[in-house]
Amino acid sequence: MDFELNDEQRQMKMSVREFAEREIAPHVMEWDEAQHFPIELRPKLAELGLMGVIFPEEFGGAGLGYVEYATVIEELSRVDGSVGISVAAHTSLCSNHIYQFGTEEQKQKYLAPLASGEHLGAWGLTEPGSGSDASSTRTTAVRKDGGWVVNGSKNFITHAIAADTCVAFASTDRTKKSRGITGFIFEKGMKGFAPAKKENKLGLRASETASVVFEDCCVSDRNRLGREGEGFANAMEILDGGRISIAALAVGIAQGAYESAIRYSGERQQFGKPIREFQAIQFKLADMATQIDAARLLMYRAAALKDQGKKTTKESSMAKLFASEISVRVCEEAIQIHGGYGYTKDYPAEKYWRDSKLCTIGEGTSEIQRMIIAREILKVANG
Ligand SMILES: Cc1cc2nc3c(=O)[nH]c(=O)nc-3n(C[C@H](O)[C@H](O)[C@H](O)COP(=O)(O)OP(=O)(O)OC[C@H]3O[C@@H](n4cnc5c(N)ncnc54)[C@H](O)[C@@H]3O)c2cc1C
Repeated sequence: MDFELNDEQRQMKMSVREFAEREIAPHVMEWDEAQHFPIELRPKLAELGLMGVIFPEEFGGAGLGYVEYATVIEELSRVDGSVGISVAAHTSLCSNHIYQFGTEEQKQKYLAPLASGEHLGAWGLTEPGSGSDASSTRTTAVRKDGGWVVNGSKNFITHAIAADTCVAFASTDRTKKSRGITGFIFEKGMKGFAPAKKENKLGLRASETASVVFEDCCVSDRNRLGREGEGFANAMEILDGGRISIAALAVGIAQGAYESAIRYSGERQQFGKPIREFQAIQFKLADMATQIDAARLLMYRAAALKDQGKKTTKESSMAKLFASEISVRVCEEAIQIHGGYGYTKDYPAEKYWRDSKLCTIGEGTSEIQRMIIAREILKVANG
């Protein structure tokens, strides 16, 4: 067992950190206030290979694993969770679904430009009436002339407006419920496929979250992703990887908040000394550091097992659940350590806290993670 990143991984972590400090940090509050999705960052992220970390080089990726991928998402999110979630949704949801379940032709056509960062990806599972219960999808795809006609909508989709490629799910046989759901690939500009309402969010405001609508959208059978009726099962497998990225998002946000609290507690004087000389503040910092370390270890365990090709349903959910819940707590304590200033937009603590909350919701709420973990541990307990 080795708890250290190797030299290349450490070097990569530092280069992503430098990039984030240089290219993202100066704009964070401006983008947040304006809800500006920084699409202009994409070529720079692509140049560093950050838009396709986990894909083989033959498809334009960096040929690395989940350990490196989680490290990248953590470092981006340490500076701005909006950039972290954007790269995560693009990589481990949209692009990875095509990589895992696409045909060779689909990988060449869609994955290669996604992994190289030339294109941006979205992944649409959630619908207005179908969130945690994702198998109750109302969007339908009906066979016609050798292709499919899709009707329905998806909401809360990251990059719904900006994406060039969108993987989305539709029921192809209602009677089969979750076994009647099929994945499809949609392209920006397809007739009958259009983005709709952009959400005005509490946090991660510089990430784009919007709805998409399908109105008699004709899609060729060549755009069917995976076998008919296997879309839901495939989506659940994709979420095993995606949840590692949400754990990384949560760890990165918590780390950023913790560092801001460390800094401030050294600068702020009360009763004639820096507030971090008070034991009450030291204990908060100690708890924050311990919780972040524990979350990071769970994140890396899930990532390392994934890189070994193991099934990580339980480990991914544990990492996501724990990291997201401690992230909210750590960020709240960071505000507390900043006192009244933490409640203002002059300091970063309030934004970290707003951003952290999404981690307990996206890619399955904390309640759903507990259900998954319970199911997995009881499978073993019940033999
Ligand atoms: C910023 C943002 C980005 C997102 N990006 C994407 C994306 O790119 N693609 C995508 O497909 N989706 C995306 N989502 C959607 C996200 O995955 C869903 O919001 C999430 O799965 C919860 O679904 P819901 O919002 O419909 O809540 P609901 O399912 O309505 O849940 C409401 C509450 O009920 C609880 N609950 C539900 N069922 C149970 C149960 N059986 N037992 C106990 N409690 C239960 C939930 O835990 C929650 O507390 C995004 C959401 C946000 C906010």
